[in-house]
Amino acid sequence: MLPEEFSNTLIKWQKESGRNNLPWQVTDPYKRWVSEIMLQQTQVATVIEYYERFMRRFPTVQSLAQASEDELMQYWSGLGYYSRARNMLRSAKIIVQDNQGVFPQKRLDWEKLPGVGRSTAAAVVAFSFGEKETILDGNVKRVLMRIYGIEAPSDDKEVTKHLWELAESLLPDHDLPRYIQGLMDLGATVCARKPKCDVCPFANCCEAKRQEKQNEIPLPKKRLSRSQKEWTFLLLWNDDGCLLQKRSEQGVWRGLYSLPSVDGDLSEEEVMETLKGWNVKIRNVQRLESFPHDFSHFRLILHPFAIHVSDDVTATKANTRWVRLKELPDIGMPAPIRSLLERFFA
Ligand code: SF4
Repeated sequence: MLPEEFSNTLIKWQKESGRNNLPWQVTDPYKRWVSEIMLQQTQVATVIEYYERFMRRFPTVQSLAQASEDELMQYWSGLGYYSRARNMLRSAKIIVQDNQGVFPQKRLDWEKLPGVGRSTAAAVVAFSFGEKETILDGNVKRVLMRIYGIEAPSDDKEVTKHLWELAESLLPDHDLPRYIQGLMDLGATVCARKPKCDVCPFANCCEAKRQEKQNEIPLPKKRLSRSQKEWTFLLLWNDDGCLLQKRSEQGVWRGLYSLPSVDGDLSEEEVMETLKGWNVKIRNVQRLESFPHDFSHFRLILHPFAIHVSDDVTATKANTRWVRLKELPDIGMPAPIRSLLERFFA
């Protein structure tokens, strides 16, 4: 298929059937940047609410640059992949302090900012400044590989290099923002993991469809062997609140508030032993149901214990803080810990 045919088909389809009412569909680079970062790993329907709340609190890059990490985490809590938020804060400070609040206009300059990869940078400059740059995220890779019948895993290095070249060669000279939005929309809503070929504008020229291989392309990625870890989480609570501990700047969930945790699957006796010297009067200890949480490289099995303590609690371990129940929604914490607390205090 000629590049012109590809881009014209996509632009026409986006106009008629794409998503044209998203709150970040403006040229403001700040809004574009925030939305692109939120949309990494997270679906549009989930992002909208977070984006609107975020924009009410941090309407400009200056307001973001002045935020504390704790407050920023309150607005990111539940979206996961928290390094995205920390990198945004660092980038906002660079833009405000080193660039007088002026946003870069070129892709390569955006890529110098923490947490901004080629595809994100390309989307921001294409939407905000009309730069002729292409995106290539997982969805776009899948679309191109199916239409052009490229039978390979999408994370293969050589294939990725080829796909960037292919995507660049397809860029149109007109309607660039609509074309880029079309790539995003087609991959998310039509040529999704389960393709809807009957409503696809490329159904007549798609190689994967012609060969009836739409469900096989891309080929499966080479498997990462995912290891497993087990941690015991201590939920010290009374009717007033519970004890949270700020995680260190190393390892997972860094900088977020979580429950105090210990490596391994502890017995009740070992939990009691751990709590010696915590300066709390324990009323009872209850083992709660264990559950898994998947990180990209390992699976964590959470073993929670609910430890009912007296009302005059004065626990002061390092980095701990007694948090009242009504304050919990405002604390930035990892999603599995939040859902554990919500279930427990419901
Ligand atoms: S015809 Fe099917 S497989 Fe091909 S691009 Fe469209 S949705 Fe994807």
